[in-house]
Amino acid sequence: MTADGALSTPTKGRTAARELVRLASISVAAGLAYYAGAVIGLWLKLPDATPSVMWPPNAILTSALLLTPTRIWPLVLMSALPAHVALEARQGWPIAMVLTLFGTNCSEALLAAGGLRRFSDAPTRFDSLHRVSLFLAIVVFAAPFISSFLDAGAVALFLEERYWKVWTARLFSNTLTALTVVPAVVMVATSGRRWLATAARSQHLEAAALAAGMLLVATFVLRAPAPDRMTAELADRAGIAWFLPLMVWAAVRMGPAGLSLTVLGAALVVVSAAVHAHGPFEGLSPENTTLALQVFLIVVSAPLLVVAALIEERRLAQINLSRQLILEALLARLSGAFVQLPSNRMWAGFNDSLRQIGEALDLDCVMLFEYGATDRDAVRVGSWNAAGAEELCDAMVRRVGQRPADIAPGTEPAVLDEETHTAVLMPLSVDERVRGVLICVSRRHPAGPGSHLLEQLRLVARVLANALSRKITEDALRASEATKSAILSSLTYGVVVVDRAGDIITVNERWLQMLAETGGPVSAAPGANYLSACRSVSRTGEPWGEAAATGVGTVLAGTSREFRGEYTWGSRHGQRTIALRAVRLDRPEGGAVITHVDITDQRRAELEARRAHAELAHVSRVATMGALTASIAHQLNQPLTGILSNAQAARRMLAAPEPDLEEARRTLEDIMEDDRRAHEVIVRMRDFIRKDSSESGPVDLNRVLNDVVRLLSSDAIIRNVAIALQFDGRPAVVHGDCVQLQQVVLNLIVNALESFAEPGGRNRRVVVRSNCFGRDLVEVQVIDNGSGFIVPPESAFEALQTTKPGGMGLGLSIARSIIEAHAGTIRATNNPDGGATVSFRLPLARRP
Ligand code: ADP
Repeated sequence: MTADGALSTPTKGRTAARELVRLASISVAAGLAYYAGAVIGLWLKLPDATPSVMWPPNAILTSALLLTPTRIWPLVLMSALPAHVALEARQGWPIAMVLTLFGTNCSEALLAAGGLRRFSDAPTRFDSLHRVSLFLAIVVFAAPFISSFLDAGAVALFLEERYWKVWTARLFSNTLTALTVVPAVVMVATSGRRWLATAARSQHLEAAALAAGMLLVATFVLRAPAPDRMTAELADRAGIAWFLPLMVWAAVRMGPAGLSLTVLGAALVVVSAAVHAHGPFEGLSPENTTLALQVFLIVVSAPLLVVAALIEERRLAQINLSRQLILEALLARLSGAFVQLPSNRMWAGFNDSLRQIGEALDLDCVMLFEYGATDRDAVRVGSWNAAGAEELCDAMVRRVGQRPADIAPGTEPAVLDEETHTAVLMPLSVDERVRGVLICVSRRHPAGPGSHLLEQLRLVARVLANALSRKITEDALRASEATKSAILSSLTYGVVVVDRAGDIITVNERWLQMLAETGGPVSAAPGANYLSACRSVSRTGEPWGEAAATGVGTVLAGTSREFRGEYTWGSRHGQRTIALRAVRLDRPEGGAVITHVDITDQRRAELEARRAHAELAHVSRVATMGALTASIAHQLNQPLTGILSNAQAARRMLAAPEPDLEEARRTLEDIMEDDRRAHEVIVRMRDFIRKDSSESGPVDLNRVLNDVVRLLSSDAIIRNVAIALQFDGRPAVVHGDCVQLQQVVLNLIVNALESFAEPGGRNRRVVVRSNCFGRDLVEVQVIDNGSGFIVPPESAFEALQTTKPGGMGLGLSIARSIIEAHAGTIRATNNPDGGATVSFRLPLARRP
C-alpha cells in the first residue's frame, strides 16, 4: 500500500493476475464438475427415457452458484455450457434441444441458488431447522418443480415424448439429486478442509468406520442374488434397507455434512443398481423400480436431513452456551481483577488477563497496546501466546509495529484473514476515544463479520477499555498528585489546606517546620481543626488567634474570597512576624488554602531601609543648608546690621543732653524686632536640619511653602530670580510630617533656582503655586523658566541621577519617596515655552 492507502501499480498488477487465476480455476472446476455430473447422470438414465433417474449437473450448478458471488454467476453458467453440449450432442439430440435443456438446467440452478440466497441468512449452511427447511422448500422442491415445466416442454416438443411423463420423471430425478448432491458438495467445499484439519481423531475414526460400513453394504447390495433360494433372494432384495441404519448413524453422529455424503453415496449405489437391474434389482423392470426408489430416497433423506440439522442446531447452541458461560466467567474474572487493582499494578493484571483471554477463547496470540499522547503511536502493554505460537506472535508485532491505528483506524475492529491464521484488531474505546488496541490471532477461528469470536472480543474489549481508561485516569491523577505535592514541598512558605469545616486536609513540610520554629498554632497539623487551633492560641493571650480564626472563617463561609492578616508570634527565636493569607478553594465541597509567610526579615529590612532613608534625607537637608549658607548668612546679616545700627543710634540718643526717651524706646523695639527675625531664621534652620523629625500631624502646606520661600529669598536675590507665591485662597491642610514636606518643597525650589545657568538674563522667575481640587486633593506646582530637564524628566527621579557638577542626585528621589509615603504622586515635565514644572499631589486631611 502507498501512504495514501491506494494500491501501487505492481501490487495492483499482482492482485489482478491473482483474481484472473481464481476466476479461471472456478470456471474450469465448474466445467469439469458439470461434465462429471452429466456423465454420471447419463449413466443413470433409463434407455428409453430422456430424463435420468438422478441428474447431478443441475445440483452441481446450484452448488457452484451458492458458493460463488452473484457477479460471477454468468461465468459459472457459461463454463458449464461446453461440457453440456459435448455430452448431450452425443445422444443424437438436436442442438436446439440441447441448448434449451441447458437453459432449463440453468433456470433450475438460478431459481434454487437465487431463491435460497434471497431468503436464507446463510445459504451455504445446513445447521438449523430454519435453514434446512428453506433449502428443502426452495432448492429441493420449488426449483425442480418450476423448471421441469420448461424441460418437459422441450423434450415433448423435440422428441415427442409424453409431457407429463417427462415432467414427473424429471421432477423426481432433480428433487432427489438436489436433496443428495447440493448439501454434500456445498458442505465439503466450505468446511471439508477445516474438518479434516481440526476435527478430533475420534471423529475421523468414526467417519472412517461409517465409510467402511457404506462400502460393506454397497458390496452386499450390488452382489447378484442366488437364483435358487427364494428366502435368500428376499433377504437380498431387502438389502438396501441396510443403508438406513447407516444414514441414521450419520444423521445422529456426523452432522448434516456426514449425512448428505452418506445419502449421496447410498443413492448413487442404489439408483445405479436399479437402473442397470443389478443386484437385488436383477430381473426387475427399471421403469417400475426407479420411481419407487426415488420416492423412497426422498422421503427418507429429507426428514433425516431435518433431524441432522436439528441435532447440529442443538450442538451449536450447546457450544454457544458453553462459550457464553466461559466468556461470562472470563468477563467476570477480568472485571473483578481490574476493579481491585491499583493503577500501578495493572500492567501485571493486563498480562494475566491476556493469558486468561487467550486460554478461554482458544486463541494463539493476544496482545494489548496502549496509545500514548499522540493517539497514533502505541506502546505494547502486554502479550501472551499459546505454546508453539511464538513466531506467529512475533510476526504480528512486526506487522503492527507501533501503529496499530494504521490497520484499525477508528472504533470498529479490523479483521486480517490470512491463509494460516486470522487476526482481529479490536480498538479499545471509551466515550468514543480510542485508548488502546487488543490484537488476537487465531489459527482455528474464522473471524468474519458476525462470527462468535468477533462478538466475544467486543465484550472483552469493553472490559479492557474500561480498565485501561481507569488506569489512564488514575495515572493522570497520581501524576497530578505527585506534581502537587512536589510543588507544595518546594514552597518556601507554610501551606495549610482546610476543608469547609476548617479541618486540615494537608500541609506542606515548610508549615510543619514553621510550627516547630515559630510556635504557631501548636496543634495545627493534619487532622486538627485550624480554626480551633487559632482560637486556642488566642486563649493563651495572643490576640491574633481570634482575628485569624474569624478571618479564615469568613473565607470558609463564602462571605469573602480572601483574607489577609499579619501577626507576631513569640518563638524561641524571638518575635516572628507572619503574613497569613486565606484563599477560598474553587470547588463544590469548599475549603481554603492558607499560606503563612515568615516576613520577619523582610520587615526588619524595611525598617533598616526606612532608617537609612531618613539618614539620607537628613544628610541631603544638611547639604542643602550648606549650599544655602550664603543666603542664610545674608538673611541673618540684615537683622544683625539693623540691631547694630539701632543700638548705635540708641547709644547716641541716650548720650544726648536731653535724650529723647520715646525715640530710644522705639529704637529698642526695632532692635527686638530684628532680633526676633534673626531668631526665626535660626529656628527655621534648626528645625530643618533636625535629625529626628518623624512626627505626623496636620500640616498647612501653604505655610510650608511660605516658610521655604522665605528661607530661600536671599538665595533667590543672589541668583537674580524672582519667586512668586500663588495660593488659591483655600486652606491646604494635609496629614503628614512637616519637616519631610518642607524638604520636598525646598528640593523643588532649589532645583528650580539652580536651573538658571547664567547669573545674568532678565525675567528669571519661579512660580510656586498651590491649588486645591475639591475637598480631596491639593496640588503644588513649582514652575520655572530655566533650562528645563536635560535628561528625560521621569528618569530624574532615580537616585544618583544628576547633571550638576557638585550634585548628589538624591533630591528628587527623596522627594518622590516622601510624597509616596504620604499617599501622593509627583511628576515632572518640561514646559512648552521653556523651563520645567515639577508638581506633586497630596490628599487633603479630613476635617473633623
Ligand atoms: P541634584 O539636584 O543633586 O542633581 P536632584 O535629584 O534634585 O539631584 O535632581 C536631579 C536632576 O534633575 C538634576 O541634576 C537636574 O538635571 C534635573 N532637574 C531637577 N529639577 C530641575 C528643574 N527644575 N529644571 C531642570 N532640571 C532639573
